[in-house]
Amino acid sequence: MSRVYNFSAGPAVLPEEVLKEAADEMLDYKGCGMSVMEMSHRSKVFDQIIKEAEADLRELMNIPDNYKVLFLQGGASMQFAAVPMNLMKNRKAGYILTGQWSKKAFAEAKIYGEAVELASSADKTFSYIPDVSDLPITDDMDYVYICENNTIYGTKYKTLPDTKGKLLVADQSSCFLSEPVDVTKYGVIYAGVQKNVGPAGVVIAIIREDLITDDVLEGTPTMVKWKTQADADSLYNTPPCYGIYICGKVFKWLLKTGGLEKRKEINIEKAKILYDFLDESKLFKGTVEKESRSLMNVPFVTGNDELDAKFIKEAKAAGFENLKGHRTVGGMRASIYNAMPIEGVKKLVEFMKKFEAENA
Ligand SMILES: *Cc1c(COP(=O)(O)O)cnc(C)c1O
Repeated sequence: MSRVYNFSAGPAVLPEEVLKEAADEMLDYKGCGMSVMEMSHRSKVFDQIIKEAEADLRELMNIPDNYKVLFLQGGASMQFAAVPMNLMKNRKAGYILTGQWSKKAFAEAKIYGEAVELASSADKTFSYIPDVSDLPITDDMDYVYICENNTIYGTKYKTLPDTKGKLLVADQSSCFLSEPVDVTKYGVIYAGVQKNVGPAGVVIAIIREDLITDDVLEGTPTMVKWKTQADADSLYNTPPCYGIYICGKVFKWLLKTGGLEKRKEINIEKAKILYDFLDESKLFKGTVEKESRSLMNVPFVTGNDELDAKFIKEAKAAGFENLKGHRTVGGMRASIYNAMPIEGVKKLVEFMKKFEAENA
């Protein structure tokens, strides 16, 4: 067996320790004679798995009691519709556009009401986070929406927008559990777990209790109404059991390795290795303004498409996988999520130095 360094933006690398544990439990989960994949979601054993996962996540993120944790399906993309359907009482909301994912959420919200662009960084191909200190938020807006870490462009909010008292809704898919967050600053946080937490198929939503009501837009599907899942403790229908089980193991791994404060330190140290090199390199350069740099997704280019392609090919041959940038932006992108070991980044930088010398 040999594992590559996997820089995929998602589905992405998971902690080896978690995968090994899951492999050990594959045929017989803790003496019950079956895999977690094969058991009823109404069984006692699974009940313990999902309850423990929630309790561990609450501990990790210090989630207050007046927030519900939901394990959902449909991807982060389903929440693009769920957010307006559950929250648009006045049928009006403000969106900050920082890339593809916020644009998609914005387009989806327009189906249900008036979605207003509050700020955008489209003028410079989303290479920075716009000033969000004084946005044109009006009193009739139901919420303000952000994509907190922009997976494709590699930007991250360093300060949250001043929402002028309005609810903040955040798509945290690609920065979830990468550092501590103050949950009380948000009305809703949600994340597709396949970026930083687990296998595709699970979305975690953390929602302030008073926002979970029957007062949703007319025509909201039962499954999209948050109250349906909240009332049933995420077991209204068959949940993505195996995915939740893996997420639970990742939560335990994060707790065991020092929690989110420690994780943030590691992530800063890890990202710095790559950014420092990009800042001094004569061949490679980062595409994001320094103040907006993500700790999770690091896009870079040589400025020459042929050289980019050569780099990606040679990197792959050397065991560095999935370094190709998103199809809409080109170049390279190294996603260095929680489970990417620091040696992976050190070795990548060594390889980039060698490539630079050979192609000077
Ligand atoms: C990947 C991603 C999505 C889309 O997730 P799906 O689960 O495929 O719907 C949405 N938002 C962000 C920030 C992402 O990184």
